Amino acid sequence: MHKLELLLGLSNIFLNNLDENPLYKIVQHLKDYVKSDVCSIYLLDKYNRNELILKATAGLKEEAVDRVRLNIKKGLVGLTYLDNNYLFINNATEHPDFHYFPGIGEEPFKTFIGVPLKTNIHTFGVLVFQFKNNKKDTHSLRKLLETASAQVLSLILKYYQDENNIEKANAKKEIILRGIPLSEGIAIGNPTHIVYNYIEQAHITSVDNELNLFDNSLEKTKNEIYELINRYKDKKIDIQIFNSHIAILEDSSFITKIKEHIKKLKKTAAISTILITKEYVDKFNALDDPYIKERVYDLYDISQRLLANLGALSKNIKLRDNSIIISDKITPGELASFNIDKISGFITEKDGLTSHTAIIARSIGIPSITGINNIIKQTENAETIIIDGYLGLIIINPQKETMNLYKEKIQFYKDIEVDKRNAIKIKTDSSINLYANISSLLDAEKAQDSGADGIGLFRTEMFYLQRNGIFDIKENSNFYRRVLNATKTNYFIFRLLDIGADKKSINDSNESNPAMGLRGSRYLLHNRILLIKQIEAFTTLDNTYNFSLLIPFIADIDEFIKIKNIIINEYTKKNLKIPLIGAMVEIPSLIFSLDELQKVADFFSIGTNDLFQYTFAVDRTNPFVSSLYKPTNDTFLKIMEYIYKKLSKTGKHIDICGEVAADRTTLEKLINIGYKNFSVNPYVLKKLKSYF
Ligand code: PEP
Ligand code: MG
Repeated sequence: MHKLELLLGLSNIFLNNLDENPLYKIVQHLKDYVKSDVCSIYLLDKYNRNELILKATAGLKEEAVDRVRLNIKKGLVGLTYLDNNYLFINNATEHPDFHYFPGIGEEPFKTFIGVPLKTNIHTFGVLVFQFKNNKKDTHSLRKLLETASAQVLSLILKYYQDENNIEKANAKKEIILRGIPLSEGIAIGNPTHIVYNYIEQAHITSVDNELNLFDNSLEKTKNEIYELINRYKDKKIDIQIFNSHIAILEDSSFITKIKEHIKKLKKTAAISTILITKEYVDKFNALDDPYIKERVYDLYDISQRLLANLGALSKNIKLRDNSIIISDKITPGELASFNIDKISGFITEKDGLTSHTAIIARSIGIPSITGINNIIKQTENAETIIIDGYLGLIIINPQKETMNLYKEKIQFYKDIEVDKRNAIKIKTDSSINLYANISSLLDAEKAQDSGADGIGLFRTEMFYLQRNGIFDIKENSNFYRRVLNATKTNYFIFRLLDIGADKKSINDSNESNPAMGLRGSRYLLHNRILLIKQIEAFTTLDNTYNFSLLIPFIADIDEFIKIKNIIINEYTKKNLKIPLIGAMVEIPSLIFSLDELQKVADFFSIGTNDLFQYTFAVDRTNPFVSSLYKPTNDTFLKIMEYIYKKLSKTGKHIDICGEVAADRTTLEKLINIGYKNFSVNPYVLKKLKSYF
């Protein structure tokens, strides 16, 4: 049994059988090489992720293919899938997990070998070998079968990807894609693509019109760049960059591709420009060549110019009703500019459970799915989309039966939700305050509507980040004033700009590990002019407003003291009353300095989103580790108890301002510890109020 021969055989099967299902040949080939009596492939059902389906077999009855479905919690196949490891069992029929499937020719086989078909991230199914006689469990057999399973998986993935592409070519066919669920719920809605700050919502009326618009924009863009070349050519400024922009605009393949996209797919000039640019950017980024990677910036610049000349870079984005947002990644700034009430679901290429998108999706109770590659391209022809946040599925252009099924499901979940809300009340002896975490005027209005007891956290960075790194004191203080007026409350906490990690402006430098880099208080101390500008914006607010200031992301008391002194200095210079200044407790190191912190901070706000992220090393934006985000976990609750014991002695105000309190079970546990003040997303407030 030569490993190389086995692998070559597998590759040949695939190369020579592109037109037909190669799975049958794969199992036959493996059975012959391994000299087993049965070789089968079980794959996870696309639609029901609790079931494995027999997709190919050599040795069992052929009629069993597609008919045999096994619950993942049953049998030795299920055991291999759940355990996600190579499983070798002799005398398999005596194993407590053995499950006999009648009528498929499953003789009493002695040896069972299950090998998960897995990548680092997902397990797609199980490769099974069965032998009539007991075999010897050797290291070399195990290595051989594990290598074979990796090879088989890559062939399977390629095969299904091709199958998907064929489906995709058929524009109106129902297509189902699977991703990673971030927020539960089901929605049926209108696809709205967001790429590079641009939103595509409409279908075009005339292809010729779009081609003309594109040609005009191309001419304007070239003229603009020629003008720049003329302006700078004698001024010792390197104009090479502009020459390379012209070269791209005159590169017939780039421009022709955009025009073809408009013609073939009947799409607007704007979205065609964006999608073709993205295609190039992705290709360039994939190459390990720093020179080519630099060209990504050129392409991005050019596409922004083309879009501006198409009049497509609108800042005041108006979403249509029932929008399902589809994006490669939604930035917090973009999110803050949407009217959330118009959104029914989010689909992103990459995001994590505690990313702002996911937090908001969960708190408003709308589904959100991530982890689908090329999501923009895959949904280009979608007219309606169903998003199933329970199973992590998106269904493009659903057929009538699917629509009906999902309408029933929506009703079913609605009924359960009502029952749940009526049944459970949280018992508490003390009065609980439910404040809102807000970022925009719309959030402020929502907080007011939902009866928030105050604003526990105003994320001021969202407004700033939408302005591409420019802080205009007047503009910001006017915005703050409007938000204060909209909330009409005496309990209002402004958080100083918490920039960094996933909340960066395009001007910020690329750090190799931004979550550990310049963020929050560190960023402010590094950019003091910006910090002072923001304090000035606060000082220009009317004296009649009652608000406090909160300093984010503190790892060391010194950072707090330095910023506090700058605030005091600015207020004293103007002879103004200094607001209360609080500290965010969200970096684990600070937990061990609470005795010192309480001497200098007026109040405390525990940022549980980050506290969890930094304590458990779980990136809040990474979907692959989302399942590790469990705030009901004992260790986390012990930390919360420790903090409460330390801080409650001070008699100073303590808020919990992360989203953990939006979950009923966690909220109850935190109340049992003694916490009384919670600040959550305004979209979840009504639901939380119904728990008391
Ligand atoms: C937190 O970290 O819990 C928090 C409320 O702040 P943000 O989510 O903005 O980091
Ligand atoms: Mg935080």
